Amino acid sequence: MRDDRSPAPRTFGSLPPAAALQLLGSEVRAEILWALSEARGEDGPPALSFSELRARVDADMDSSQFNYHLQELVGQFVERRGESGAAESQLVEGMAGDHGEGYALRPEGTTLTRTVRAMSVAGDAEIEPFDVGLECHVCGGAVEAAYANAIFSVQCPDCEYLYDYNLTPPGVVDGDGDVVLSRVARYNRHVRAAFADGVCPYCAHDVTTTFADAAETAYPGREHREVFVHRACEHCGNRDNLTVGEAVLTDPDLVSFCRERGVDVTSTPIWELAFAATDHATTVLSRDPWRVAVEVALEGDALELVVDESLSVVERTYS
Ligand SMILES: [Zn+2]
Ligand SMILES: [Zn+2]
Repeated sequence: MRDDRSPAPRTFGSLPPAAALQLLGSEVRAEILWALSEARGEDGPPALSFSELRARVDADMDSSQFNYHLQELVGQFVERRGESGAAESQLVEGMAGDHGEGYALRPEGTTLTRTVRAMSVAGDAEIEPFDVGLECHVCGGAVEAAYANAIFSVQCPDCEYLYDYNLTPPGVVDGDGDVVLSRVARYNRHVRAAFADGVCPYCAHDVTTTFADAAETAYPGREHREVFVHRACEHCGNRDNLTVGEAVLTDPDLVSFCRERGVDVTSTPIWELAFAATDHATTVLSRDPWRVAVEVALEGDALELVVDESLSVVERTYS
């Protein structure tokens, strides 16, 4: 929970978040943001002159009326890049390159329109369940993947063990099964790695860490799990559950131990790595404070990592 003594959040334009969203409640302003977003994808500087912008949004609109809507966005989602120096320019300092003159998106406008773009898709953004080519680590069944309602799931239809169940933008569905699997495996790896590293992958805030005995949670498949590591961002609400194996996946000792034995954990889909996809190699050593071990066994050798309740690796044992 947010500390009551901390200041309420404001956008960079100093508005309460809801007031910033309220600014968008106008078709003209939405069209302005979209036109400026489209300009970012074109050749040349992503700035449009007043007349060019008005022509793209609504050439018939009265100039002063258009300017009223545009100025409502300036300083919040849009900036004016002047030709006569810093006093007129609102260009974000430190951005390299030729930015042109006129109106362009501020970082907030870029982020907003990029989010809408990320969740937009032409055609059908669903994939019927298809074979992943993986024997379920729990029951040996044929694991399947599917995409619907912006969730990419990887699950065993026989024992219902969930390997992945993540909000994934529909860009992931482009291509055939193997291409999609490869892309979603890499996308999820980066999201997981950020959470594992303690940084919200969406807003860059710290995340909290909570361990929970699997049996005491309501998560599906808990009967096959030992412990859930819940990481949450209190700023934007982003959250994820990690296995301890996922939490230590970028540990340099683990990476090189596996690499020397023919497994590249930096590119293998996590669902193929039993120590990260399941809790079969995970042991709860203590609960107060939490200490949990995960053992990676390959070619007759083993590396055991122990994490404390901050998910820091505090012991490494080779055997
Ligand atoms: Zn299964
Ligand atoms: Zn966040």
